[in-house]
Amino acid sequence: MTTAAAVMDNESEHLDLQLARPKILIVDDRTENLVATRKVLRRLDADIIEAASGTEALSLLLRNQFAVVLLDVQMPEMDGFETASLMQEDASMRHTPVIFVTAINKEEHYANHAAELGAVDYIFKPINPLILESKVRVYVNLYRQQQRIQRLNEVLSQNNEELERFAYICSHDLKEPARNVLSFATLYTELGVKERAQEGLPYVESIIKSSRRMLDLIQGVLDYSRVGGKSESFAEVDCNQILENLEMDFEHTIRERKVHIEYSNLPPVRGNRIQIMQLFQNLIGNGIKFNNKDEVHIKISCRENSKEWEFSVMDNGIGIDTRYHTKIFDMFQRLHNREQYPGSGIGLALCKRIIKLHGGRISLQSQPDGGSTFLFTLPKTTGNGGMHDGG
Ligand code: ADP
Repeated sequence: MTTAAAVMDNESEHLDLQLARPKILIVDDRTENLVATRKVLRRLDADIIEAASGTEALSLLLRNQFAVVLLDVQMPEMDGFETASLMQEDASMRHTPVIFVTAINKEEHYANHAAELGAVDYIFKPINPLILESKVRVYVNLYRQQQRIQRLNEVLSQNNEELERFAYICSHDLKEPARNVLSFATLYTELGVKERAQEGLPYVESIIKSSRRMLDLIQGVLDYSRVGGKSESFAEVDCNQILENLEMDFEHTIRERKVHIEYSNLPPVRGNRIQIMQLFQNLIGNGIKFNNKDEVHIKISCRENSKEWEFSVMDNGIGIDTRYHTKIFDMFQRLHNREQYPGSGIGLALCKRIIKLHGGRISLQSQPDGGSTFLFTLPKTTGNGGMHDGG
């Protein structure tokens, strides 16, 4: 399998795109203070939400996660200390950092009281804009780091589950040819020396067949586990060029099976060239293989939405029943026997893995005899932003 570190590297490339923008809550009963504070904090990469009272602040805190709360101490009705004290009573708010904004005085007992109420810091009025900005920035950055760690933990536990499933499937499917080899070899040894020459031959042939299958499976597992290794870097990939090269590779099959591959003006994408090539190779290869028409048609198109490229690879092949649409992306899942259509059931699992490493999704629209359309997304990036080289 790919190392956890490599997976995490690739995952973290897309992480920042998935994380929500931090929010800052400013609480003050005086509009002019709210306006002034918002102005000071406008350069921070965060959303600023305002509350004009402690009650309003608590209601916002119940519904949102904030990176930090700037809490005015002197407010009518519920003052800043009371608000903070109520925040302490609620598990979902208790850990939100609070910075008190106060003009009262700088005496120690105020500081102690504030610390008891979970305050992490103080700002004294009149506010020094530079100090306010730099203090809040620390908490916004801290929040972002916490979010990253939390998300990485989720990704890690997902990957661990996947690894367990992968180990189970591999051992399960590799056992079948290994068992065959053992059974036929046992039968062969039970034959007498004379019988071996005649009756033994089919056993030997079965042993060879099962051994070949075992080697194919092991090779497939190796190919699968190599995808996403640390050395595989991201760059701009020209999809049109990849398809031109694949057409050359498929030249013999294209002529024999009368294949028409249609595509035009596909966008350049940011990704790993070899993996993107493997992706198209598997999808086009399957479109040709699982096809009983006199002429095979494969159409590759792409459209864009605000965040991603949406690719589709459509064929006029035998189609797939909806109940298998998820299952076929799992390792070794095949819907036909090897005599009907050769293969090892690794191609689509590999496609799914490649798309996951690129931060996209893959799915399928198909029905029996109605052809298949494989859809996958790849995140769009502008200039050098968003992703960076994984190598
Ligand atoms: P393999 O091609 O080695 O069988 P894949 O993982 O690529 O393995 O595909 C898994 C299964 O999904 C195939 O065995 C086949 O039953 C089905 N399948 C994949 N692509 C297509 C397609 N374009 N049309 C019809 N069936 C398909």
